[in-house]
Amino acid sequence: MRVGLYPGTFDPVTFGHIDIMRRAALLVDRLVIGVAINRDKRPLFSLEERVAMVEAEAGRLAAETGIEIVAHPFENLLIDCARDVGAAVILRGLRAVADFEYEFQMVGMNRALDDRIETVFLMAEARHQAIASKLVKEIARLGGDVSKFVSPAVRAALKAKFG
Ligand code: ADP
Repeated sequence: MRVGLYPGTFDPVTFGHIDIMRRAALLVDRLVIGVAINRDKRPLFSLEERVAMVEAEAGRLAAETGIEIVAHPFENLLIDCARDVGAAVILRGLRAVADFEYEFQMVGMNRALDDRIETVFLMAEARHQAIASKLVKEIARLGGDVSKFVSPAVRAALKAKFG
């Protein structure tokens, strides 16, 4: 059974993330969504809130694809998390050139730590490519409409945060 790990901050989970999850589900038998604690990033949503939002989206996607998709909070090294969940592959989304340099370094470092775990990059469809959690939060904070970027449940959660 091929297990894939899709790690991220998911603060909050967007249609961009869900697009990548849907594509990842075509490649693996079990998809683990690694929700990073990422204290450095000072997330808007707590780890519990982010995991709950990912679980809700993953549940819908699992029903649709027939693939087991689970959320897994983690605080340790990504490569250790991959080993913990038995992942043979790490899946990441790639947006524009801006993502490339950081991802390039990460692959190099992770490969040095464990050469057996491969990283695969996926691209979202065009209308989802520009979506970034950071901008979604900014739009929601300023009272804008985020319905094209996140699910109704996440939109409600953003509304609750920003009033
Ligand atoms: P991280 O802090 O690890 O970057 P994010 O939640 O921002 O966490 O992103 C998780 C993963 O999803 C990353 O690989 C990121 O490139 C990818 N991603 C986020 N938004 C999109 C999008 N709109 N299209 C494609 N990939 C995306």
